[in-house]
Amino acid sequence: MTKVTRRTFFQASTAAAAGAALPAARATDQPAQPNAPKIKRFKALGKTGWKVGDISGGSGQTDPGVLDYMFQAGINLIDTGQQYGGHEELVGKVLPKWRSKVFVLDKWDPPLITATVTKSALLESLDVSLKKLNTTYIDCMMLHSIGHPRYGGLERIQNPAIYEAWDEAKKLGKIRFTGASSHGVKMIEEMGWGIDNNRFDVILIGSNFLTHGVEPLLKKARAKGVATIAMKTMTLYTSDLNIRALQGQHTNARQACLKWVLASGLFDTLVARIPSYDTAAEYLAVSGTTKLAAPDRGRLDLVAEHIGRDYCRPGCGACLDACPQNVRVADILRYRMYFENYREQKLGIEKYRQVPAGQRASACEGCPAPCEAVCPYGVQIRRRLTGAHQMLSLV
Ligand code: SF4
Ligand code: SF4
Repeated sequence: MTKVTRRTFFQASTAAAAGAALPAARATDQPAQPNAPKIKRFKALGKTGWKVGDISGGSGQTDPGVLDYMFQAGINLIDTGQQYGGHEELVGKVLPKWRSKVFVLDKWDPPLITATVTKSALLESLDVSLKKLNTTYIDCMMLHSIGHPRYGGLERIQNPAIYEAWDEAKKLGKIRFTGASSHGVKMIEEMGWGIDNNRFDVILIGSNFLTHGVEPLLKKARAKGVATIAMKTMTLYTSDLNIRALQGQHTNARQACLKWVLASGLFDTLVARIPSYDTAAEYLAVSGTTKLAAPDRGRLDLVAEHIGRDYCRPGCGACLDACPQNVRVADILRYRMYFENYREQKLGIEKYRQVPAGQRASACEGCPAPCEAVCPYGVQIRRRLTGAHQMLSLV
């Protein structure tokens, strides 16, 4: 694949951009580089009236030029949130020129959503996001990370203030649709409640080729016209894994993870973290996939063989009640993933430090691991957790 850089992107688009902001009229134009990958397939986003590209953008950028590149290539949904340190502001740098062309998902910070948060606190928070995003409206305002017991139970999202705030924000023209995101252990239960009670227009959930069990939730969503978006689609594969049989094929293997989601037909779109021009080009190249070819299946089988028993699946909480020590299995294994696979060591260590001492993985040493008997994926929980404890206790 031809390497895309800020320089090559802007050299190629200089004529269009005249050395400055791309005019909004170019939003649906082809990418400036000849043969640059672009979105090839658009699908209805539930009943929102939007058609969005099959690949959508998550956070991860530090250069606003990457956002311009993504939008010019046809990506027309961006997923941002208050929790993504500075990402709203970055989106705000380019959003005015793309505003009518791009569907913005924004999310309230998870600790803000409590059983007692007030309507006015939520509306104030919304105004802060609007300012950062440099816009007067957000297409879909979401509850971020529901289904994580560390923030509380179902009573959080049953707080009527949330729905009063959404209703008022809609009347004021500040939001158009509402929804929630989750990859937590109570994802199915809490998303199900929101859909049953007609609270969500859009759901954003953790799902990939190594997870199962979301189909009934998606069926329920579709029956009500709720838009379905996948995240966590790359599993542990954000960084290259040392799989001998895949040497030289890491790009293909990452792309196969995305292709699986596209070919599954389960979702309206998927959001992927896109930090760079190259990543955007790599992911855009799979847009339009409707079938998974044999070589891609082979690559996914190799990845599954390599990480299947290491990887704690998003949205699963099957071992939640099996640990007599109440160890925060899913959280701690995710922090290990930040450290080991996302190469965000500091984040992993900081998050682990916030786990109450009695719920850390130090309890796993010498434990007979009853948790492993109930894991539907055969994750070697004790081994992974004792390793996580060593890794994340580094100072
Ligand atoms: S190994 Fe034991 S202490 Fe650790 S999570 Fe499993 S049941 Fe809990
Ligand atoms: S360790 Fe297994 S059972 Fe526990 S949350 Fe992860 S995938 Fe589910």
